[in-house]
Amino acid sequence: MSCNVGWRHLITVIYPSTAGMLSPIVLSHVTPRSLVPLCFGAVRVKPGGSLTARFSSEMAAFRKAFSEAKHIAIITGAGVSAESGIPTYRGAAGQWRKWKAQDLATPEAFSRNPSRVWEFYHYRREMTLIREPNAAHHAIAECEARLSRQGRSVVVITQNIDGLHQRATSKHVLELHGSLFRTRCVSCGKVSANHRSPICDSLKGKGSPDPDVADANIPVINLPRCEDNNCNGLLRPDVIWFGETLDSNVLTPVEKELEICDLCLVVGTSSIVYPAAMFGPQVASRGIPVAEFNIKSTPNTSYFTYHIQGPCGTTLPAALARHNSEVI
Ligand SMILES: [Zn+2]
Repeated sequence: MSCNVGWRHLITVIYPSTAGMLSPIVLSHVTPRSLVPLCFGAVRVKPGGSLTARFSSEMAAFRKAFSEAKHIAIITGAGVSAESGIPTYRGAAGQWRKWKAQDLATPEAFSRNPSRVWEFYHYRREMTLIREPNAAHHAIAECEARLSRQGRSVVVITQNIDGLHQRATSKHVLELHGSLFRTRCVSCGKVSANHRSPICDSLKGKGSPDPDVADANIPVINLPRCEDNNCNGLLRPDVIWFGETLDSNVLTPVEKELEICDLCLVVGTSSIVYPAAMFGPQVASRGIPVAEFNIKSTPNTSYFTYHIQGPCGTTLPAALARHNSEVI
């Protein structure tokens, strides 16, 4: 049995009980359907046998589906970036100084102490700039370029804000949570790409994650400022903070891609952050094959057609390599 339940309805139910999750997106979408119990199609009973045999059989089955797919949606999460050395900011190791990301990545934290929040993001920008895309990023980008020559499409729907997919030359990337390398003016709203290092003079050398380091307490006037038409408003990172809604300019194309894809990969995500955690199950509910690539099982594993376990930098290059049936 399968049923089709839009994630916009589901997240309104799931969000309130889950600390640190993203906000419900469109409250006007709350309907009685949000009380419909979740059910999915395309659930496959995993075969028995050894782990190695199971891996081979899952990969072989995935490769067949891959060879037949015309529109592939690849949903990526922190696990992909972690293999490039980008911290996930989850768990005990996810702290910056004495704070968790949830203490800093909020509109309230920015309004209370914009200097501290900018130090945190400056540190993340600088750290990301010295990291490189890994084999998983490259496999996805190479697959997109190759399949586009065959009239097939690949879209990346990412929860990551580090821009590593683009640096690996992926072209069609939808960034659900924004980007470390864009700013938004709190006065005029202008969004701009920004790869400066440091982003402004006063942040140079600041942002150490060491818990013994004191706040820089940079005057607001010396933090990144808008350069548009003498606006001079305070800039903030153009990322989605906890408690903020996702950008409909991103969500609308994401929904479209999820509706038309005929193969979906869920890569390096723990499937606990909504709404992205719903995307794979939503596609599976249409009877479309969904493959999970992760170092371990996740809460959603049983909903997916294939589960390919291992580091994405190892499994994805094999999974997305040229198939015998590809002639171009
Ligand atoms: Zn401005």
